[in-house]
Amino acid sequence: MAVKGTGPYNPENIFAKILRGDIPCKKVFENEWVLAFQDIAPKAAVHVLIIPKKPYVSFIDFTKSASEDEISGIMKAAGKIASDLGLDETGYRVITNAGENSGQEVPHFHLHLLGGQPLPPFPV
Ligand code: AMP
Repeated sequence: MAVKGTGPYNPENIFAKILRGDIPCKKVFENEWVLAFQDIAPKAAVHVLIIPKKPYVSFIDFTKSASEDEISGIMKAAGKIASDLGLDETGYRVITNAGENSGQEVPHFHLHLLGGQPLPPFPV
């Protein structure tokens, strides 16, 4: 079910539980700023979720509240992961959903990295 993408951060969301180690994930990458793991219901051959370690509800919340280091940290991590997964040659897509109109389901800001196959025309 889509979430609003605004308001206070809910520490019981599924990504908060993954960050706390309460539930497992298939980790792809981690550094001081971000955790990246495989999407549990992949929409493409490669579908990685890249999330900040700190609690932000949405893209706007993240860009308003995160430090410059966190913002550059998630972008650099996404680029490194895409490169390390060999997506540079074949192509890929990076998106984020925010709020009800986008269908955002998990109220912890995240990037979707999709690739590994021809993707449907945008929007997917
Ligand atoms: P969004 O709709 O942009 O909020 O995307 C949420 C994504 O989280 C969806 O693609 C789900 O398949 C994915 N997801 C939900 N629960 C888990 C989980 N436990 N581990 C990995 N991915 C998950």
